[in-house]
Amino acid sequence: MNTDQDGPTFAELGLRPELLQALSTLGYEEPTPIQLEAIPLVVEGRDLLGQAATGTGKTAAFSLPVLQHLEAHRSGRSPIALVLVPTRELAVQVSEAFHRYGKDLGARVLPVYGGAPIVRQLRSLESGVDVVVATPGRALDLLNRGSLRLDEIATVVLDEADEMLDMGFAEDLDAILDATPEQRQTVLFSATMPRRLDSLARRHLRDPARITIAKEQAQAGEAPRVRQTAYVVPRGAKPAALGRILDIEAPTAAIVFCRTREEVDTLTETLNGRGYRAEPLHGGMSQEQRDKVMGRLRSGTADLLVATDVAARGLDIEQLTHVVNYDVPSAPESYVHRIGRVGRAGREGVAITLAEPREHRQLKTIEKVAGATISVQTVPTVADLRTRRLDLTRAALRESLLGDELDRFRVVVETLADEFDLMEVALAAVKLAHEAVGGADDEEEIPQVAFRTERDAGRGPAGQGSGRGERPARRVPGGPTARLFVGLGREAGIRPGDLVGAITGETELRGKDIGSIEIHQRFALVEIPEPAADEVVQALRATMIKGRKATIRRDRA
Ligand code: AMP
Repeated sequence: MNTDQDGPTFAELGLRPELLQALSTLGYEEPTPIQLEAIPLVVEGRDLLGQAATGTGKTAAFSLPVLQHLEAHRSGRSPIALVLVPTRELAVQVSEAFHRYGKDLGARVLPVYGGAPIVRQLRSLESGVDVVVATPGRALDLLNRGSLRLDEIATVVLDEADEMLDMGFAEDLDAILDATPEQRQTVLFSATMPRRLDSLARRHLRDPARITIAKEQAQAGEAPRVRQTAYVVPRGAKPAALGRILDIEAPTAAIVFCRTREEVDTLTETLNGRGYRAEPLHGGMSQEQRDKVMGRLRSGTADLLVATDVAARGLDIEQLTHVVNYDVPSAPESYVHRIGRVGRAGREGVAITLAEPREHRQLKTIEKVAGATISVQTVPTVADLRTRRLDLTRAALRESLLGDELDRFRVVVETLADEFDLMEVALAAVKLAHEAVGGADDEEEIPQVAFRTERDAGRGPAGQGSGRGERPARRVPGGPTARLFVGLGREAGIRPGDLVGAITGETELRGKDIGSIEIHQRFALVEIPEPAADEVVQALRATMIKGRKATIRRDRA
């Protein structure tokens, strides 16, 4: 692991070498605040009641301690840990996280959820697993069939417990927890702590430690005067969106913050491939390499620094005008620190955050804790970019008209003026100048999306870069289609765009994969590719359309 960082390290949390190695390979440089607080408590065996939203790193906060004790608790074929989650997508993401962290420990992790063939899940359970990540309904089903044995469970995790209660799983949770050993450890994470959750915690947790992330107030006056903007961007469109925003903002020098070393390296490559001058900076680089990078930034040979928090700690770059958060930071304090690098000494600073549609709540928390106002905007369109580029060309020409020695070109204009109108000559010259500063017209539109403000935002398969669910089959011309019944219609103000938006926002389907849409008074029918039907039903059930929950099923007509 990195040795020259000043913050607390994963090693200091007492994690075993196999886990430290996995974290280092993944490029995690330091624990997030929730990990810092929760890991020692959970490793020690305490019950825990943690308030933390998606994106804070809570998955690692409970999975690392479970893996830490894997061998000590492992006795045979029965699982030693059960993680209950509200949705199929989260089940897949969490078990992928377990796999990533527990690779060297040979952890056997199985996600089980409704909507997938039960036979395969039964077979896997039969052959022995260590950790089961399940939605409550399917867990109960398997428990009742006698296939899910809970008598050796050492730890139960309730992840996104508020969501599970909202989805009506309270009784299932009680039944499942009652079937686990009494002396088990129980860890509960929830983004909100409604009263109903307190009573669930009272029934099932023993003297829990309580952790609330994102409650500490930032120091007054710490937030500098900086123009703060967030752009809502689907994950896949982030590199293009970043390029577009950089083109519009034209920073003198900028730092782009990423979560991991891998992300730093990949993004640096992508940006350089797109013609920017970017340099990476992360904890895996030697001091000499870092000094070189800083030198290039200071001398203006590079104008973008792509960095992790750890590597950028303590950096003070005079000419920095922009700070970009490539992801919403995992803690508001980290946001405050990052943007504190610009807007100093009365100069204008700009902070830009790329947020995925599911990250609405995190951004709100940051606004509250940092006392900041972050204006949410859609990514500039191709038309915006063209306008901006023309503005830049006009500004450059003005400057040239006011200052440069132009007389040596007079003969060119005069000669051409014999043949052409002066306006036409000027137009041709502007065109050349414009193209020379990169006025290319080959830009693609970036999808315009909005935040999902629903409580269960973010559990679509497009949620995490590395935690993607399977991609539902696309529409093949002439391929089989299914019709979905959506229990909201004209009366609820539903328009085709709302349905397309919900489907494309929650699944990997694109607009062109969706077939005919009929809106009736009280319901709507949507045609989608048959292979994706179950996934779309699940995803739409877990979300809201026009702010309302709707009945979603295959249309039997
Ligand atoms: P979660 O809140 O568990 O959904 O995690 C949010 C994202 O942060 C996931 O993509 C994790 O892989 C990533 N992550 C978690 N912990 C760390 C860390 N200590 N350093 C960098 N990335 C992390």
